Amino acid sequence: MTTYNFQGYKGRARMAFTCEHCSKPNRTRTFVAEHTVNPFNKNADGSIKQASQVMREASAEAKRQRDEFAVEPWCAACEDALSYDERKALRARRSTAKPAA
Ligand SMILES: [Zn+2]
Repeated sequence: MTTYNFQGYKGRARMAFTCEHCSKPNRTRTFVAEHTVNPFNKNADGSIKQASQVMREASAEAKRQRDEFAVEPWCAACEDALSYDERKALRARRSTAKPAA
């Protein structure tokens, strides 16, 4: 069996914030998204996406995750203390909010 080793590119976005729940200042969170160059990662016209394009998209994805988080920034301790349902509700509020201008 042939194994393929696809080149992966990581996009990162970092955010410093004050927790909205416990008001602890100077919390930080880093968001990482990895996209790969591979034969199935294609443009609408069927061409395989180039490395530079994949890098941009990984970076855009990390920023999107950060923007979603920024809707209601909670520190890790507060998020960890949530029940499954509360966590689900928090994720839903973040994903339905309009992106900050
Ligand atoms: Zn907190």
